[in-house]
Amino acid sequence: EINNVCVDFASRRGPATRAVDNVSLRIAPGEIFGIVGTSGAGKSTLLRTLNALTRPSEGSITVNGTEISALRGAALRQARQRIGMIFQHFNLMHTRTVAQNVAFSLKAAGWERAKIAPRVAEILELVGLSDKANRYPAQLSGGQKQRVGIARAIANHPDVLLCDEPTSALDLETSATILALLKRINEQLGITIVLITHEMNVVKTICDRVAVMSGGKVVEEGEVFNIFAHP
Ligand code: ADP
Ligand code: ADP
Repeated sequence: EINNVCVDFASRRGPATRAVDNVSLRIAPGEIFGIVGTSGAGKSTLLRTLNALTRPSEGSITVNGTEISALRGAALRQARQRIGMIFQHFNLMHTRTVAQNVAFSLKAAGWERAKIAPRVAEILELVGLSDKANRYPAQLSGGQKQRVGIARAIANHPDVLLCDEPTSALDLETSATILALLKRINEQLGITIVLITHEMNVVKTICDRVAVMSGGKVVEEGEVFNIFAHP
């Protein structure tokens, strides 16, 4: 639940930028919710408030009944373990193998050492990368890198997966396979997905509902079918 959220960025010269302007949204468990808009609309800033990478200047954010925007320290780290995130440029660790990238997130989440390798193997199987476990990111295609990003993000059984332009660095065909994987994760694992994109095609392919942002505001919201229906 996003309640009357504003995000202001201070600037040295002139007035602060209001990147998010009084946004309220309810995202239901199990849905794939898209946030669309042109560059600078405030999508990324809004998404980052959902795991408190960015703090609202006003308003509040509740994830799974916990007001994440009010948490600090250990309580915030614990809440973040229920929220995975993937990125346009994957953000993998280049000096670690595929398996080590995934294992790292489990170590950080406090998994017992003996349980990590089997979980890494299971999750790599799920994303179709079992044969790449010992490769380095530089040895992978863009689509494979994003699969590692997804594996890392969902290894710890999150309830929510935040996707920041997940297919914008990929070609059309590869994008389709990544969207299909996200859809499968949503359906099979029941993970709620919040996805930001400037590509309408992405929204039409997998989202249930969508919010359209412009100038920091949500200017339209509803079922994808209704928002993008042509008369
Ligand atoms: P989008 O993701 O839709 O492209 P952003 O959320 O990245 O939009 O940006 C929204 C507005 O906030 C833009 O005007 C951008 O320049 C500004 N902005 C974003 N992040 C920062 C920041 N860390 N510091 C200052 N301004 C920022
Ligand atoms: P580090 O030096 O970063 O600890 P390790 O080589 O010990 O790197 O690997 C970290 C963890 O990654 C291992 O404990 C194991 O759980 C997991 N791991 C590494 N390779 C694989 C693999 N091929 N399949 C499954 N898990 C793996």
